[in-house]
Amino acid sequence: MRVPPSLKVLILEQKSQVDAGANTTGLITVATRGILSDLTDVRSYITNRIEDICVLAPDWSSHFFSGTDFPWIFSTDTPGLLGSMAGKLGPNVTLKTGARVETWDRETGEIHPIIVRFKEGDNSAVSVRCRLLVGADGTKSVVAAGSPDLSKNTKILFAYEKVFAGEPLFGEKPDRTVYHLWFGSFSLGYGGWIAPNFVSGKKVFRIGYATYDSNIKQENKLDNMINLLRWKEYIRLYEEKPLIKYGGYFPVGGVLPNTVSDDVILIGDAAGYCGAFSADGIKGALVSGITAAKLIPDHLDGDSQALKQIHNLMEAEAEMISYFSRQVRYRFLWNRMKSNATFTSLFKLCEREKDDFLNQFCDAKDMRKSLLWVLFKFRHMPALARLAGNILLDTLTGRK
Ligand SMILES: Cc1cc2nc3c(=O)[nH]c(=O)nc-3n(C[C@H](O)[C@H](O)[C@H](O)COP(=O)(O)OP(=O)(O)OC[C@H]3O[C@@H](n4cnc5c(N)ncnc54)[C@H](O)[C@@H]3O)c2cc1C
Repeated sequence: MRVPPSLKVLILEQKSQVDAGANTTGLITVATRGILSDLTDVRSYITNRIEDICVLAPDWSSHFFSGTDFPWIFSTDTPGLLGSMAGKLGPNVTLKTGARVETWDRETGEIHPIIVRFKEGDNSAVSVRCRLLVGADGTKSVVAAGSPDLSKNTKILFAYEKVFAGEPLFGEKPDRTVYHLWFGSFSLGYGGWIAPNFVSGKKVFRIGYATYDSNIKQENKLDNMINLLRWKEYIRLYEEKPLIKYGGYFPVGGVLPNTVSDDVILIGDAAGYCGAFSADGIKGALVSGITAAKLIPDHLDGDSQALKQIHNLMEAEAEMISYFSRQVRYRFLWNRMKSNATFTSLFKLCEREKDDFLNQFCDAKDMRKSLLWVLFKFRHMPALARLAGNILLDTLTGRK
C-alpha cells in the first residue's frame, strides 16, 4: 500500500545515502518477508535462511540447539534492501538524503500548517511546509520531541554490534543458525547474539550485545564477550578488524500511548512498535508504515479521526498490538531475573523443551501464540517452582 500518486511526499533522511548502512542485525521473519515481497524483490536480499537457534547457558560451557524443518527467520543484506525499496518510490515521492530534521512547528489556520526545519549536508538550514508530518525517525524521534502531545520512548536499550569476516565454530550448520547469549547476569537487559550474514559476498557474522547501560563501556563489554568466545573456540575471525561497527537504540517500553497529534503521526520505533523482549522492530516499522499510508488520504480528505485508527488497523490486519503487549509482559518477567542461579534454572527449563522450543518461539513471533506455554506445563511444576523461588530471592536480596 502506497500513498496515492495525487499526494506529493518528501522524505528527509539524515544519512548521506539510504544504502550507506543500517543500524540493525536485519533478521526478518517469514511474515516480514511476505510484507517486503509486496514492496520489492526481497529474495535477492536474503543472505541466510536460518533454521536453528542455539542458546548458551549462563556459564557458557553448555548450550542447546533447537530447530525447525523450514527457515524461520532470514538474514538480509539490509542496506541493499533499503536501497532497492528507495529505487521503487513513485514519481510523486522525493527522497532527500543528507537532510537532518532539527525542529518542527505548527501554524494553525494555514493550508500547509507544519513547518519542518532541517540541515543539509553542507550545514545550510532549510525549511519546508506540509499538510502532514510522519515521524519515522527512530527511537529518539525528533518529531516526537517536537510536541508535548506526542509520547516519547523512555525505556530504551542500547546495542552495540560488530561485523567480522569469520564464522561460528559450533553446531552442524552455523550458516543457518542464530546464537543467543541471553542467560546470565552479564546479560541483564538483553544479552548477546551472533547471526551469520554475507557482506559484499564475504562470509561474515554479526555479533552484538545490548543492555540498558548506554555508556561508552558498552564496546568493551562486547569486546570481552568476543574474546571469551574466541578463547572457548566458539568463533573464528578471519581478520582482527571488524568490517562494520555501530551502536543503536531500541525502545522496549511497548507501544506509546499517544502516537497521533492532529496532523502528525509516529510510526516504527518512534511509536514504540518494537518487541520489548525480542527487540525486533522491522515488522512493526513496515506494518505501521503501510497502515499509515492507508489512513493518510482519509485524514487529508477531512476525517480528523482517521489517523487515530492506526492501532485498531494494525491489530485487525497483523495482530501487532497484542504481539507488542505480550512482549511487554515477557520483558516484565525478564527484568525480574538478576542472578546466574535464576537464569540457570530458566535455561534448564528451556533445554528440556528444546524439541519444541524454536517452534514455539517462531509461532510467538508471527502468530498469536504465547512463548510462555513452552514452559508452563504440569511436568515442569518443580522446575517452575525453583525458578519462581530464584526470582523471589533476586528481588528480596538484590543478588546478581
Ligand atoms: C543493534 C540492533 C539490532 C537489531 N536487529 C533487529 C533484527 O534483527 N530484527 C528486527 O526485526 N529488528 C531489529 N532491530 C530493531 C530494528 O532495527 C528497528 O526496530 C527498526 O529498524 C525500526 O525502524 P524505523 O524505521 O522505525 O527506525 P530506524 O531504522 O531507526 O530508521 C530511522 C531513520 O530515520 C533517520 N533519522 C533519524 N533521525 C533523523 C532526523 N532527525 N532527520 C532525518 N532523518 C533522521 C535515521 O537515519 C534512519 O534512517 C535491531 C536494532 C538494533 C539497534
